Amino acid sequence: MNRAILHLDLDTFYVSVERLINTSLTKKPILIGGTSDRSVIAACSYETRAYGVHAGMPMKIARELCPEAIIIKGDTTTYTKYSEVVTQIIKEQVPVLEKSSIDEFYADLSGMDRFFGVYKYAMELRKKVIKETGLPISFGLSGNKVVSKIAANEGKPNSKSKIDIGQEKLFLAPLSVKKIPMVGDQTYHTLRNFGIRYIKTLQEMPVEMLKGVLGKNGIIIWKRANGIDNTPVVAFSDRKSISTERTFDKDTIDIYKLRSILIAMTENLAYQLRKDNKLTACIAVKIRYSDFNTHTKQIKIPYTSADHILIPKILELFHKLHQKRLLVRLIGIRYSHIVGGNYQISLFDDNEKQLRLYKALDHIKNLYGERSVIRATTIDTKHHNKNHNVVGNSFSLKK
Ligand SMILES: [Mg+2]
Repeated sequence: MNRAILHLDLDTFYVSVERLINTSLTKKPILIGGTSDRSVIAACSYETRAYGVHAGMPMKIARELCPEAIIIKGDTTTYTKYSEVVTQIIKEQVPVLEKSSIDEFYADLSGMDRFFGVYKYAMELRKKVIKETGLPISFGLSGNKVVSKIAANEGKPNSKSKIDIGQEKLFLAPLSVKKIPMVGDQTYHTLRNFGIRYIKTLQEMPVEMLKGVLGKNGIIIWKRANGIDNTPVVAFSDRKSISTERTFDKDTIDIYKLRSILIAMTENLAYQLRKDNKLTACIAVKIRYSDFNTHTKQIKIPYTSADHILIPKILELFHKLHQKRLLVRLIGIRYSHIVGGNYQISLFDDNEKQLRLYKALDHIKNLYGERSVIRATTIDTKHHNKNHNVVGNSFSLKK
């Protein structure tokens, strides 16, 4: 059976939210990011793109390229709130929904064409989101996720693209190989060095050849270039989570120890999020006392994967939950409401410096293990190996 996979992507999401809040920003060139020169651009309006501005660029350069741009300091709390509103609207309208990032979704509409035209259904869903939220949104519809995503991107903004089954290769052929999800800067340069610029060239190559050049990824990229992708739409679940917990050999009331362990756990799970390019929007703390009564408390937070944002929130939850006079048998933490996304989206202050610090720390962790660099306060938590380099609270990322 042919599948019908819909990709939905809010157009310049952060910019659109800012314009919703302040309509005088409509049609003006807008840069969103930290306000200092050291910051990077998290989002920019289409009006700035003509000047060569793009997301990820240092604010200083973007300002020089487009001096008349209005600079707005981003606010993840607000963006998370609007993201949730859009999610709820779409969730009620489709059988299977995957939220892939703060502003992107996949829905599996297979089988619906027997009852409705799928394209018409997608059009109506798009209209509904725009009408109820005021946020512009694009979609791509095809037989798989990759083609739908590329189709949505190609038609942006306000795209309503449909690629019929059998037309995938034709649609992809004239596009730059850069348009294939997974082809980052490095892969792009490798391909360019082989004289490969357009997807058509990949389509005409034997798959073995591409495998020879790019390894295993070469096979996936070749398939994508040919419009082949069988990955399923994975239902969005608030319960999708990562967690960690520790049971003590001996029950404890040592608050310093408990705090240190919680900080270490928070860092470890945050590192896992960053490694997988994920963000969480809900965190929980669990305590089991020596009488086996177990208590958990959770809160929703703006999407993040940054230690310095998560740690105070986890500790705050812990202190609300913790009954000081009881012996603790187990503590644990859990992150849920997980979506894809770079941690850069939650950092708007002096973020270039912070981003570089996270990048450096994660790089060391990737090379030497996740306990190779840790906060000074977590050193005496004995449940991990003892060889670490102390970064101390100097790595506390102050504003
Ligand atoms: Mg978007």
